[in-house]
Amino acid sequence: MTSPPVSIGHFIQGQPVAGTSGHTSEVFNPATGQVTGLVALASVSEVDRAVAAARAAFPGWAATSPLRRARVMFKFKELIEKHHDQLAALITAEHGKVFTDAHGEVTRGLEVVEYACGIPELLKGEYTEQMATGVDGWTMRQPLGVCAGITPFNFPVMVPLWMLPMALACGNSFILKPSERDASPSLLLARLLREAGLPDGVFNVIQGDKTAVDALLRHADVDAISFVGSTPVAQYIYSTGTAQGKRVQALGGAKNHMVVMPDADLDQTVDALMGAAYGSAGERCMAISVAVAVGNVADRLVEALVPRVRALKVTEGMDLTAEMGPVVTAAHRARVVGYIDAGIAAGADLRVDGRHIKVPGHEAGFFLGGSLFDRVTPDMTIYREEIFGPVLCVVRVPDFVSALKLVNDHEFGNGTAIFTRDGGTAREYVSRVRVGMVGVNVPIPVPMAFHSFGGWKRSLFGDHHAHGPEGVRFYTRQKAVTQRWPASIEAGAQFAMPTHK
Ligand code: NAD
Repeated sequence: MTSPPVSIGHFIQGQPVAGTSGHTSEVFNPATGQVTGLVALASVSEVDRAVAAARAAFPGWAATSPLRRARVMFKFKELIEKHHDQLAALITAEHGKVFTDAHGEVTRGLEVVEYACGIPELLKGEYTEQMATGVDGWTMRQPLGVCAGITPFNFPVMVPLWMLPMALACGNSFILKPSERDASPSLLLARLLREAGLPDGVFNVIQGDKTAVDALLRHADVDAISFVGSTPVAQYIYSTGTAQGKRVQALGGAKNHMVVMPDADLDQTVDALMGAAYGSAGERCMAISVAVAVGNVADRLVEALVPRVRALKVTEGMDLTAEMGPVVTAAHRARVVGYIDAGIAAGADLRVDGRHIKVPGHEAGFFLGGSLFDRVTPDMTIYREEIFGPVLCVVRVPDFVSALKLVNDHEFGNGTAIFTRDGGTAREYVSRVRVGMVGVNVPIPVPMAFHSFGGWKRSLFGDHHAHGPEGVRFYTRQKAVTQRWPASIEAGAQFAMPTHK
């Protein structure tokens, strides 16, 4: 017996609100293929309602002292800890990633909340006594107003938590527009924020698709947009939002290369590649999707990978022994299969074929096994485009210089790694590679919450990276104050440019 799909609505002015547009989108359990939810797709008037709530709540929240805002964050942190398993299970149920990985996702989001707890320290400005004789000056950072976050399906808790703790702690109100493919965790986050003491209207969730996003982009009362998702949409969000005078940060897609030098420790490299390429079924913006095998390491690397990829344990994500769950939807599965077909047609050597896997008891699930291509070349679509599935491409190059050029010539520049035992080679790579986040013997170099996350090239549009110190800069603007308290009018009106005395 299957249960009927649940309705997934909005959260406005501190309350769950049912959708009224009459439009919904199906949410699946990717492991069973069943429709488990119907998520509301907001109309423009529903977005207007959320923006009005956020706008009305802004002045009071902005005037709340950073210390009190931090106390809400401390409480929110406690509540996330208390609901850690529930959040992770919700992620697994709608995204499909394995529970242990979903648990880690919540932890990485929680770390941003922990960072935001230090907001009184982070918002301290700079002060100069005696900027000129009898004149003092200082800078301070003030919130922007109503900020919106538009987030992707692949991290339904972590990516919203890259944004909202920072935006709220800085004194903004916030509207989250989560992915319509796994929208339920957003409502639990909203409930927990309310329980933590956040005033109604400061945080709102609006479910929806392009209609909702466009309404946010064009709304005169939305001051800033944070986006994470695919590159074409990121570029659209950035150009449309900035043309409307909004502050925008838009993080896009990726094609992350791991350069494997001939002197790398092969066991460590293969372990690292397995987790980085196939963890979360490759649906991570920091997944390694290209292994660049330098010189004579290629044969050894591929032969070591083949049995490991074949042995991947693929099953439903609540099985605690699962290494890889299903991909998010049947449509996404078909897209990944299309890339594998294209790779074969282009002449790449498919050493492990994950297209035909069957998971007993889950025949209708959206499963794929791991696939491994050898002898991929830069002209192939499987090399150029982001597949976002459990497919690893090995590109063979003769030397370090060719490896560096390959990585630098790619249109994306999110993350990269080099595996080597030579410090000089690693240092050279770190210095010369045109990518935003670099790992040395670390396959997925995601910065911790107290640093900032962001790519280069077509992996990020805008000036600011996410969370950490960059998050504070993005969600505040600087004001510079110059002050004097003259005992009496000293010199009368001045018409020449004032210079410091
Ligand atoms: P997506 O671009 O399809 O969707 C992201 C968000 O944009 C969703 O909320 C969606 O509703 C909305 N959206 C989709 N199409 C739209 C349109 N035409 N106009 C306006 N809004 C639209 O991305 P996805 O499939 O949910 O997520 C996977 C992508 O996100 C991958 O490309 C991945 O690399 C990227 N990603 C990047 C990072 C990063 O930090 N750079 C992190 C996670 C995911």
